[in-house]
This record gives sequence, structure tokens and C-alpha cells, in this order.
Amino acid sequence: MKEINIIGGGLAGSEAAIYIASKGIKVRLFEMRPFKLTEAHKTGNFAEIVCSNSLGSLNPENGRGLLKEEILSLGSVLLRTAFECKVPAGKALAVDRECFSKKITEIIESNPLIEVVREEVSEISEGITIVATGPLTSEKLLFYLKEKFGIKDLYFYDALSPVVVAESLNMDKLFFGGRYDQPADYLNAPMTKEEYLRFREALISAKRHLPHDFDKKFFEACLPVEEIAMRGEDALRFGPLRPKGFNKKYYAVVQLRKENKAGTLYELVGFQTALTYPEQKRVFRMIPGLENAEFVRFGSIHKNAYIKSSALLDKFLRLKKNPNVFFAGQISGVEGYVEAIGTGLFAAINAVRMARNEKPIEIPENTMLGSLIRFITENELETPQPMRANFGIIPAGFFDIPKSVRKKKFIETSRKSIEELKKAI
Ligand SMILES: Cc1cc2nc3c(=O)[nH]c(=O)nc-3n(C[C@H](O)[C@H](O)[C@H](O)COP(=O)(O)OP(=O)(O)OC[C@H]3O[C@@H](n4cnc5c(N)ncnc54)[C@H](O)[C@@H]3O)c2cc1C
Repeated sequence: MKEINIIGGGLAGSEAAIYIASKGIKVRLFEMRPFKLTEAHKTGNFAEIVCSNSLGSLNPENGRGLLKEEILSLGSVLLRTAFECKVPAGKALAVDRECFSKKITEIIESNPLIEVVREEVSEISEGITIVATGPLTSEKLLFYLKEKFGIKDLYFYDALSPVVVAESLNMDKLFFGGRYDQPADYLNAPMTKEEYLRFREALISAKRHLPHDFDKKFFEACLPVEEIAMRGEDALRFGPLRPKGFNKKYYAVVQLRKENKAGTLYELVGFQTALTYPEQKRVFRMIPGLENAEFVRFGSIHKNAYIKSSALLDKFLRLKKNPNVFFAGQISGVEGYVEAIGTGLFAAINAVRMARNEKPIEIPENTMLGSLIRFITENELETPQPMRANFGIIPAGFFDIPKSVRKKKFIETSRKSIEELKKAI
């Protein structure tokens, strides 16, 4: 039986490795950490979650909610483990990141069919290979991909929110509660008009850290907070600081979400930022209750590398020019934790079939995972941006169905198709 190589032990690569080994096939999993860290990873653990600890909604009427349901049904070990490490977050799935990546590391390292190779890969060798090196793929490998396959690099900038220590917060100024149907375990920092305007002014004029090739191609769904502030006096109040959904009237409200199970750390919700670290400390301490906040992680912007899958990959996520090479995770042009896990699982299903000399299997497009994979491999955009799971990418035929029942109909079809796919696998 052929061995399968996986490059990158992040979310996509870890899911793929565990799936392939579960089918009795040997895996060689290459991971450069801890010897070489990326700009965002801090440990040598597999499946390290680098930013928010939220894997998004659990509601199937939300794109990521349905994607989770599909992947779980297909047997995702990473999602099952995420539920084991769940922390309270209402209708969303948020995890204790340490619990999660430690468990995945134990599963991988104790599997006799997975050989872990801790080194930076700078070229792809012969044999079936899944490239899952993520948005922070090392420069050496990016260079090789460009030279070897003519893959152009596409970058955009994304951002991280800061995390503060709960004990350092002034609880006299904060209150527990949620907007509308959020759980009551969010912390809220209300602001008066004067406090809000002063804060906005400081945010706009603060010093930013800009990389030399910074080109302002922000991802609209993850805008730095100072960028939102610049868009108008009330932009923040319609965005992350919206004061709606509370029992009392406020001018603006900053929210903080539990970052770990123990509730010792809190993340500033929607506070992705490109400010310098000293400026973050100065400006974010202007938020009522955060005057003495101790920061355990500052926000940052980062490079995001991904390929133009519509030009390079087939519908099984294999390079058209070399079908032995699969791409999965963020580098394939999807965006998000669950999307990375899903594409890792799908690439692994077909890598196993290739190793067994079986025909690759298609993912039905009337599923969220299928819609996502069709989107990245078939869109006609000149410069596509990474895509999240959402109901805007489902097959065109569903748009003939009235909006009031469209999602329900799609969910029904997705459930049936996933069951059929499982039988076919
Ligand atoms: C800073 C940052 C914040 C993000 N925030 C969020 C968020 O809040 N929510 C969300 O849903 N998504 C977020 N994303 C996007 C995305 O979901 C995550 O990056 C996710 O981890 C992608 O999974 P992956 O498996 O594709 O890549 P990763 O999880 O990054 O895994 C790739 C692995 O490959 C390794 N590697 C890279 N190059 C090499 C090489 N040459 N040889 C060997 N190993 C190599 C890396 O060390 C890493 O372990 C964020 C991304 C970044 C970079």
C-alpha cells in the first residue's frame, strides 16, 4: 500500500492525517514547528488555533453551522474533539484552544501509522501528497510552488484581536450579559458619547505597524478596528461597538468574550488591529474597565497566502498538472477553521482512494462543503478572495426557491446527499 505525505500539521493537515491513518494507510506528516514558527503560531502542537477561539455558529441555517454538521457526519475527528473542549459561547462552538490542540497532538503522536517529521519542507517529493501549509506557508515552499507549478502568490492582510487577563479588568465598570440571544457570559464595557468620541479619535491617530509591502487589501469580513473607525463617526457604533440588544440604552458597547474554559482570559470582540503594541496598550486602556488591562496577546496583521484554485485545481482539489498533489485548507482558497478542516477531510478521502487505486469521489454540490469546493475550483474571478461557507454560494437552482424556505430545503438536500456520499465512500 502506498504512503501518503502531508505537509503542514495545522487544521487541514491534522484532520487529513488522522482520517488517512484510520483507513490503515501510512502517513508521513511534515510540520516545521516548533523549530520554525510562523508569525502567528506559538507552539509545536498540531491543529493550533491561532486567533479567535470560536469555530462559528452551530445553527444549520448558518453556512458554517451546516458545514460543521456535514463534516461531523463524515467523521471529522477534529470537530468531535472541538466539542470535547467546548467553552460556553451560546449558539456558537468555541473551544479551549490548549485542550483542543493538546488532544489532537496526542491522537497524532500516539498513532503508529503516522510518522511525524519535524522539518520545513522546501519541495514536494514523489508520491501522493497533500499540501496543507496554511496562510503562513513558509517562504521557501512558496518560492518552490511558484517556480515549479507557476503558482502566483496572492496575498491579503487579515488581523488578530487582543486578549486580556480577566483579573486585570475593573469589574465595577463592566457587566455580564449578551446582545439579543447571546449568552450572558460576555463582558460588556459601555461608553458614554464623550468616551466613545475620545476613543475613536485616539484609534484613528494611533501609530500603526505596517509591513513594507502593505497594500491595504483587507478582507472585508475582518477589518482592523481602526480601519472601521476611519470610515465615519458612527461606523464603530454600527459595527463591533453597537449598543443594541441590551435591556438598557447605551451610546456604545465594547464586548469581551471568554477566551478559555476557566474564564481567566478575554478577547476583545472584533478588535482586530494593526496598531503597534505600545499604542494598543495605550488606546485600548481608554475603554472603561480596561484602564489597567494586562495584555497576553496583542492584535496583529498577517500575510495570507493562497493559490488561485480555479486555475490550478480540479474538483477533487488535485493539481491539474500533477494529480498526485492535493491542496487543502486556507492555501486552497477557503477561509476559516471549519473550512480548513472540511477541505482537509475531503482531500484525505480522495488521497486514500488514489492510494487504493480507486476512482476519486465527487462531493455533491448540494452540500455546503460541495458548494465551497465548487466555488474555489470553478469561479471565474480574476482575483478570487478566500471564501467562507455561506448560503450565497449554494447552486443557482436553489435561488428559484422562495427565500423563506430556501435554507430549509438546502439543509434537507444536504443531509440526504451526505448520507449517500457516506455509503459511496
Ligand atoms: C493570524 C491569523 C488569524 C486567523 N484568524 C482566524 C479566525 O479567527 N477564525 C477563523 O475561522 N479563521 C482564522 N484564520 C484563518 C484560518 O482559518 C486559519 O489560518 C487556519 O488555521 C487554517 O488552517 P490550515 O490548516 O489551512 O493552516 P494552519 O492551521 O496554519 O496550518 C498550516 C501548518 O503548516 C505548517 N507549515 C507551513 N509551511 C510549512 C513548510 N514549508 N513545511 C512544513 N510545515 C509548514 C505551519 O507551521 C502550520 O502548522 C486566521 C489565520 C491567521 C493566519
